Amino acid sequence: MGLESGCCPEPSSPGRHLIYGRVFKGIHDQDGNHYSAGQVREVPWGAIPPVVTAIRVLERIAPDGLLFDGAVHAIPRGRISTGRVVGFEAMRNRIEDFIAWASSLAVDLDRPHEVIPDDPFGALGVARFRRSLAWHIARRPGGLVALAIQYGHMRTAMSAGYAARGRGGIHELLDIETARATADTLTTLHDDLATGSGISGPAARRAIHAAAQAPTFAGSIRTHRQARDLLGNPALAVYDNPHSFLMCVYNRDRALCQRLDITDAPSLDRCQPSCANIARTDRHADELAHHAQTLEQQAAAEAVPGPLADRLTRRADHLRGLADRHNNDRIHSQEPTA
Ligand code: SF4
Repeated sequence: MGLESGCCPEPSSPGRHLIYGRVFKGIHDQDGNHYSAGQVREVPWGAIPPVVTAIRVLERIAPDGLLFDGAVHAIPRGRISTGRVVGFEAMRNRIEDFIAWASSLAVDLDRPHEVIPDDPFGALGVARFRRSLAWHIARRPGGLVALAIQYGHMRTAMSAGYAARGRGGIHELLDIETARATADTLTTLHDDLATGSGISGPAARRAIHAAAQAPTFAGSIRTHRQARDLLGNPALAVYDNPHSFLMCVYNRDRALCQRLDITDAPSLDRCQPSCANIARTDRHADELAHHAQTLEQQAAAEAVPGPLADRLTRRADHLRGLADRHNNDRIHSQEPTA
């Protein structure tokens, strides 16, 4: 909310845009008094293109000073913030206005399937918007690459490890959504194994042990304490990584993705194929084969240049090899464990 016009300059050479914001907490002048103007963050945020576009729009609305200046964003039906930045009520109204505008545009363009349906729980509101953000950060690692980078960055910036204390707001939501995502992964794994799915990979037996505890947690994560109990149990640290077609049964001592990282969570967007924390189920093998087939079809298309087709084919062969290895090595949960 404290971002100012000019916070996201055009990069001097081709590259990613960066956003420069201010920090206010814990900033003191040389006499030890809190410095209310804050100071520019040492580490800027990376910005994906839609964010840059949004900032450019805001800069046209509020060309000087704060992008979310309460006076500039005055909306007839929303109270103007008594502070300098726009208030929650006006923000909620803005979100609702955006939904109405997007839906009417969809109708005008004859795209009724893109109308945003009425929400059975009422207005979206800022609190639920924040919860959605936490949900995405917890569940989309390795999805769209730009988002994975952004979310990974935000998770690192916000969490500083699950052992951090005295957190609130988005941090607790992030823990709860991460714990729910882990519980969902364990439940899916438990159900897959119970219905005869095989599992392979160096972490397969640890995954089987973790899945056996899934019924204890299914649908039970409601409070921050419950979330921390689950996240604090290293035997249950199982993360789905659909982008890499695998499951990460996290053990920090064996992790190859974050040797220099201080956080106690895997960097799923930097997953290494030779890591000892990898497990795959039949579901992952099916997805590998399906993706390989898609790549082969792309490679066979007439318009695809030769070098690109070769690359697609090599990638498809690699994925098929992983699926074949799973089919050769897979074990079942009923087999005696070592
Ligand atoms: S490299 Fe290992 S620890 Fe890191 S995400 Fe991949 S499987 Fe997990």
